[in-house]
Amino acid sequence: KRTLVVVGLASCLAMTGTSGLAAAPQAKPAIPTIVVLATGGTIAGAAATDTQAGYTSGQVGVDQLLAAVPQAKKLANMRGEQISNIGSQDMNDEVWLKLAKRVNELVAMPDVAGVVITHGTDTIEETAYFLNLVVKSKKPVVLTASMRPSTALSADGPLNFFNAVAVAANQDAVGRGVLVVINDWIHGASSLTKTSTTAVQTFMSPLRGLIGTVAYGVAEFYRGPVGKHTFESEFSLDGVTSLPRVDIIMAHENMDGALIDAAAAAGARGVVVAGVGNGNLTAPAVKALAAQATKGVVCVRSTRVATGLVGRNVELDDDKLGFVASMGLNPQKSRVLLRLALLKTKDAKEIQRYFIQY
Ligand code: ASP
Repeated sequence: KRTLVVVGLASCLAMTGTSGLAAAPQAKPAIPTIVVLATGGTIAGAAATDTQAGYTSGQVGVDQLLAAVPQAKKLANMRGEQISNIGSQDMNDEVWLKLAKRVNELVAMPDVAGVVITHGTDTIEETAYFLNLVVKSKKPVVLTASMRPSTALSADGPLNFFNAVAVAANQDAVGRGVLVVINDWIHGASSLTKTSTTAVQTFMSPLRGLIGTVAYGVAEFYRGPVGKHTFESEFSLDGVTSLPRVDIIMAHENMDGALIDAAAAAGARGVVVAGVGNGNLTAPAVKALAAQATKGVVCVRSTRVATGLVGRNVELDDDKLGFVASMGLNPQKSRVLLRLALLKTKDAKEIQRYFIQY
């Protein structure tokens, strides 16, 4: 869009026949500065051949990544930093805290228009949602990834990266929270989830819908993200050096309370149950969960179902049992919100408010 405006203006002036213009030095169109933070993933992965399924994540450094997509240099001035180089199955609190700190530093710099983060697809939805809650800025922060390694036939990384830079450089992305750009779609951090282990079209925003689309760098924005985020978030990492432990336990037929009790015994200050249906679990598991809630462990009911709200007091009496309903958040994002919530309070009512608002 930016380029089209500049070309349009130049041809307009040419048409008016303004004298002396031809002699003037050609002004370079001003392009924004975008900082690329690389964390690893398949987008930085490599295989021995271009057609094999097996590969290793996090083999290519940020400079190689930037060099592989020279087209993006027309969209933005870019510089890169390597935060980590890991498969995102290994994502951890140390990297999260380092990444969030660096993003907050960068977005506070007047010359930086936005940040692009390259990441693995396995946990990108968690990292995006985490940053969505702790980055204090309206500037675009855009995560991207790929399903195929950089060495693959029809690698999807380069175009995803190009599109991510285009979105980060786009004024219309300002104030929309942390975004994930992949396979031509722009997702909000609270909405996207990985739905296929192998398909290139793996990310969906099943409940809350897409923020927009982007084709070869041309973005269309349809709507803002759902839920409070970034500059309006009440969560902060100021002074935080570690995050509380929260475990996810999946519900199933014949479930007992053993894993719920084991989580508490391992030091979990919160438990998220990936319940069946509308966040349900067997009567013995409900009993174990309610007992932990009484002891001060914050217990959130989410769902193992791919989409749909988990509402309060539907088949279980959350008011009586002291549970929190996850509303629109899947278990992995519920865990992220609960960890940040536990930095502030362990009051189930206040934490329920967070789940309604974020
Ligand atoms: N295991 C990889 C990762 O999450 C998968 C990918 O990036 O697509 O890093």
